[in-house]
Amino acid sequence: MIDSLPYLKGSDFPSITRNKLEILQVNLGYVCNLSCTHCHVNAGPKRTESMTKATMDAVLAFIDKHDIHTLDLTGGAPEMNPHFRYLVTQAAERGLKIIDRCNLVVLLEKGFQDIAGFLADNQVEIVASLPCYVQENVDKQRGKGTFDASIKALQRLNKLGYGLADTGLHLNLVFNPQGAVLPPEQQGLEYSYKQHLQARYGIVFNHLFAMVNLPVQRFGSVLLSTGRFDDYLQLLKDNFHAPNLDKVMCKNTLSVDWQGFVYDCDFNQMLNIPLGCRQKIQLAQVSELTGNPIATLQHCYGCTAGQGSSCGGAIS
Ligand code: SF4
Ligand code: SF4
Repeated sequence: MIDSLPYLKGSDFPSITRNKLEILQVNLGYVCNLSCTHCHVNAGPKRTESMTKATMDAVLAFIDKHDIHTLDLTGGAPEMNPHFRYLVTQAAERGLKIIDRCNLVVLLEKGFQDIAGFLADNQVEIVASLPCYVQENVDKQRGKGTFDASIKALQRLNKLGYGLADTGLHLNLVFNPQGAVLPPEQQGLEYSYKQHLQARYGIVFNHLFAMVNLPVQRFGSVLLSTGRFDDYLQLLKDNFHAPNLDKVMCKNTLSVDWQGFVYDCDFNQMLNIPLGCRQKIQLAQVSELTGNPIATLQHCYGCTAGQGSSCGGAIS
């Protein structure tokens, strides 16, 4: 894989600073049952990195000390971390909003088939990747058979009450473009997803998050190896929308890696761009974060292009 970091330096991205910290996004490791082409963490079945219970306890201690309202769990497939249930249960006891970034297929894997019920019991919001509602496109990006498995998993989640009115069980889907293009307008795309999935498979969900692919890790490498990196970066810059600067996710979110090190965001984590000096969550002080400059490079143009992009989809 070609490292995209050297190609992102020399950035003219405007300087931005942190607001009050509200969300902790925790990467539980790089183990995943899939190996998607757009994966920005380069996760897969052969990865072994996984957060320990001791680091989870440090995360919980940080939450106990600070005014964090949301714990956003990511990976890899976060559910494949052996201590996933421990962390979720502890967070639920603390009354946090918990988000599980789920690839859906994992809910059908041997040894994980009761995870959907566990998530429902703990009122965990599910943010699930479904990069398209057309089988061929999903299988191309995520691997053969992933579309059918995703549909089965979504139907199972609906049976548990996910995505239905008045259950409080939120099910949001994530769209990623297939290639080096910006996503279409989120609201119109959500309408198309809802129409298609309901009519064809009887599936309902709450919202669709349309995300921009950032030119880092596996996607960055594909762009570099096919000679499209510069054009894609230019596309992001040409579509720079200044009002998005106030709403990028690093303003109120802290990203924690599987070893407990902290970063401004998940992308900086993957590029190994530390927050200030390299430090672990045990030493991080919220009081020192507010107002601090955010470490930005050229990939940040992915968060501000067009309708913008964050962990919750479009931002404008
Ligand atoms: S994009 Fe998600 S599901 Fe696909 S390999 Fe990466 S972590 Fe796994
Ligand atoms: S890539 Fe990270 S640091 Fe850059 S703007 Fe986006 S969220 Fe902020």
